[in-house]
Amino acid sequence: MYYSNLEIVFQEVPGEVSICFTISGCGIRCKGCHSPNLWKKGSGQLLSKSFFKTILDKYKGMASCVLFMGGEWHKEDLISYLKCAQKNGYKTCLYSGETKLDESILSQLTWVKTGPWIELLGGLDSPKTNQKFIEVKTNNTLNHLFLKNY
Ligand code: SF4
Repeated sequence: MYYSNLEIVFQEVPGEVSICFTISGCGIRCKGCHSPNLWKKGSGQLLSKSFFKTILDKYKGMASCVLFMGGEWHKEDLISYLKCAQKNGYKTCLYSGETKLDESILSQLTWVKTGPWIELLGGLDSPKTNQKFIEVKTNNTLNHLFLKNY
């Protein structure tokens, strides 16, 4: 599994400070994709288990959630990283362009964002978006947390 970006983000998971890994190799190819550089498999840097653990240790007490932007196409690796994050006290989130995800991935997530990018409908901050931000445990859709003036 390769990542093209690693950053600390504050808005993608409401109420959480998230360590965000953007994984390369997305095969969904949404029209108007914000980052077509992510389509190429193997671009960016290898996400090794030791580096992942180093990052978890580094941000312990500062960040509260580990967020993957994609990576569901590396199911076994993704599950193993999500388990490691939980074991180290982090909540977990996946932003996916798929509308349905394998139960084995969902069971390791606190939240999931589903749905491809459709320019006409907009992202999570649009009231007419096709995308959903879901709390996995309850299956509640929490899109209202992203709407301005909420
Ligand atoms: S899911 Fe995201 S990265 Fe993949 S093609 Fe769509 S917008 Fe681009």
